[in-house]
Amino acid sequence: MDDDVLRGLAKDCVHCGFCLPACPTYQLWGEEMDSPRGRIHLLTQVLDGATLTEAGASHFDRCLGCMACMTACPSGVQYDQLIEAAREWTATGGSWQERVTRALIFALFPYPRRLRMAMAPLRVLQRTGLDRRLADILPSAAGTALRMAPRGGGRRARLPERVPARGRRRAVVGMLTGCVQSVFFPGVNLATARVLAAEGCDVIIPRDQGCCGALSLHSGRRAEAASFGASTVSVFSRAGVDAVVVNSAGCGSAMKAYSSAGFGVRDLSEFLVELGPVAERHPLPVVAAYHDACHLLHAQGIGSAPRSLLRAVPELSLVELADAGTCCGSAGVYNLLQPSAAAELGSRKADAVVASGASLVISANPGCTLQIAASLRSRGSGGRKVRTAHTAEVLDASLRGVRLLSDGGGPDGGTSAHETDACDTCAGRG
Ligand code: SF4
Ligand code: SF4
Repeated sequence: MDDDVLRGLAKDCVHCGFCLPACPTYQLWGEEMDSPRGRIHLLTQVLDGATLTEAGASHFDRCLGCMACMTACPSGVQYDQLIEAAREWTATGGSWQERVTRALIFALFPYPRRLRMAMAPLRVLQRTGLDRRLADILPSAAGTALRMAPRGGGRRARLPERVPARGRRRAVVGMLTGCVQSVFFPGVNLATARVLAAEGCDVIIPRDQGCCGALSLHSGRRAEAASFGASTVSVFSRAGVDAVVVNSAGCGSAMKAYSSAGFGVRDLSEFLVELGPVAERHPLPVVAAYHDACHLLHAQGIGSAPRSLLRAVPELSLVELADAGTCCGSAGVYNLLQPSAAAELGSRKADAVVASGASLVISANPGCTLQIAASLRSRGSGGRKVRTAHTAEVLDASLRGVRLLSDGGGPDGGTSAHETDACDTCAGRG
């Protein structure tokens, strides 16, 4: 982005400090330079010609990109634009370990096939328990990745290219399957397709869709993001859909940023609330807490839609987390690049979950699910089993009148909520 445009955006900041209490890194360290206001000041200095030192760059790197400051800012400062520009400055810097970690992340995560292949040896390590021992001795990023990896993840769940609406057709929607979502949480995509079909949508799931570019966009790799974004937009433009529905908060916020899309982009919860329910909900007796993914609440302004969907599930009691709007520390790949700050935020989130009394944490972002589950595992949940799930899985279980079996296809439960052979959606029977 042009320096003058950036300077103009930075000038919108009137230094009031209202954003400081909302900023997780300011909460952690109480340092002005690790607050939104401090980072905007630093960015202005660099635009005015100051050299960006390694210490300066670390303040940008320590930003989670959670956008809680944007929700808190009364002046409407577009911090997302500013931090994305700053990330472009720092994207290639850092120690050699950080550069290797970033290279590995971006060679793997946007490519589901490669990610799935990497999961195969990991499943063997998990079966033998070696993953936990290795996690303790490997360098921090690798150790964190082993601790975060979902048990039994990486199994393929092949969806048909079209899942027909049940009953009267009310919409034709495209479904973005996502990279991390499709590899680590295939059950979430299956649940999403079933919920949409049950609510009267033809669901189009193009096989040739790839990464939407969210991870790259939020990491300052603008050119890479633009290329991923362009091919995703082109795939869905050809699909002839009314809207593209996204079940991963980070992907949804990136997809909404692609102005060239000739179709609407909707988060799943947003779409379902707009569409209105027709399918019958069955009771799901559980005390559940909803965790706001930052890229849903702060980047897309969606907080009430998932809650209203969940409150409509009979016998589901929804409790609020004390810090529902504060980042859990996942933040894309932040937990791999800044493991110690991420672990502290994860531990605070786990404390809030345990204090809420919930036995189920619901979230709409795969990274948040992995982070919260790993944090609960390392903190312990006071003798009570606390499971994790995606909003789609909860709705799907309620619509089908079945128990919620898995941990969102995640850390403890694999993808066992789903019997592929018996599933009409997988078998293309709608
Ligand atoms: S994006 Fe999050 S971590 Fe970064 S400055 Fe804003 S509130 Fe703080
Ligand atoms: S970013 Fe907004 S809330 Fe924060 S100091 Fe600037 S104007 Fe105030």
